[in-house]
Amino acid sequence: MNDLKYCQGPSCHQYTTQDRLKGIKGSKTFQTRRRSSLYYGNENFCDQRCLYDWVNKYIEQGLDHFGRTTKAKHLTEQNAWIKDYDYNYRNEGNEKTNYRSVNRVTKEQRPLTEAQYNDINYTLNTGE
Ligand SMILES: [Zn+2]
Repeated sequence: MNDLKYCQGPSCHQYTTQDRLKGIKGSKTFQTRRRSSLYYGNENFCDQRCLYDWVNKYIEQGLDHFGRTTKAKHLTEQNAWIKDYDYNYRNEGNEKTNYRSVNRVTKEQRPLTEAQYNDINYTLNTGE
């Protein structure tokens, strides 16, 4: 039971679906959805409506808190690296091969190990 997570949507309990109707017979109430897996908003919301309810309620506070974009950012050599790979369709299982970093500005490619590809902190980018 500890693995169940509540939807973080501020109005989840306001949506009167049968699966939200819980409790003892005679005193049932519509309640916030609780699931072992939530699929929206980094696994915090039961559906898109609840995700956008949260966004609409908190977006101004969030932008004020974390800082707004006030001037254009630029894609440059220093921040243009992305990771890519090819599928090897000849083998069963469609193995991924040829892991590489690709610079979208210079078109330069550099090989990556599978571990580097899977490491979300590994990047050649040196700027935002
Ligand atoms: Zn919800």
